[in-house]
Amino acid sequence: MDFGLTGKWALVCAASKGLGKGCASALVREGVNVVITARGAAALRATATELRAMVPAGLQVEVRAVAGDITTAEGQAAALAACPQIDILVNNAGGPPPGDFRDWDRDTWIKALDANMLTPIALIKATVDAMAARGYGRVINITSGAVKAPIGALGLSNGARSGLTGFVAGLARSAIAARGVTINGLLPGAFDTERLRTTLRAGAQQAGQDPDATWRAREQAIPARRFGTADEFGAVCAFLCSVQAGYLTGQNILLDGGAYPGTY
Ligand code: NAD
Repeated sequence: MDFGLTGKWALVCAASKGLGKGCASALVREGVNVVITARGAAALRATATELRAMVPAGLQVEVRAVAGDITTAEGQAAALAACPQIDILVNNAGGPPPGDFRDWDRDTWIKALDANMLTPIALIKATVDAMAARGYGRVINITSGAVKAPIGALGLSNGARSGLTGFVAGLARSAIAARGVTINGLLPGAFDTERLRTTLRAGAQQAGQDPDATWRAREQAIPARRFGTADEFGAVCAFLCSVQAGYLTGQNILLDGGAYPGTY
């Protein structure tokens, strides 16, 4: 299927690794020019090189890498300035740490809200009206399965991501909906990325358990009996950006191998 994306420009935040990289890869394969960001310049450069090697033969695709923290005003300005126009915005950043809410002060909350709620909203604000004026736009917010089923230790994530989800539920249904702009959330369950490996291993070590056995047990607890891959995640992102998905907006799409136990 031709997704009709050739020649579009995408800003994919936090994309040197993991799910962001999966989204950037899928978009490049569809002929989309991408600006990718991450804090570490070396890993970002390496990813940009990998992405350039994925460009389908015969297509002209630009890959630009902008190192910086997307949760800061400077990081956002640099990312926006690198993109001649933004047709597709993929919001992503690192997730907040686990913990007990009794230990979190105002600064801890503000940091989580900045990364996982206010930064996506700032980037949407900077781009969405121009998308509407051109008659096409796609905003994909990478959030978490925790939006549908909260995870006890991840209160900061549950709170900040639910705030973003509530805000965009209203925005997606505003006047931009009639002007070709869709906004959707992509909710990862457990995906085999560096973050999952680090957090699962650290948790197992803390509990005095074997990290490999913990990894396998966690996989077995998912109906699909495996973790998702960044490529699978990216493919769904590319579909949401497609012209065919123009009537799909204001939704939260869970990608979790069946882990969420509810019917709705
Ligand atoms: P990852 O650690 O594998 O990759 C994160 C990427 O984001 C890296 O490229 C890193 O450099 C970049 N990054 C992090 N903070 C940044 C910042 N402030 N500015 C710019 N770049 C930044 O993580 P992942 O597994 O791909 O997760 C992506 C998001 O999805 C996170 O918010 C995570 O909490 C969420 N999530 C992941 C899973 C999972 O199973 N992997 C599950 C639920 C939610």
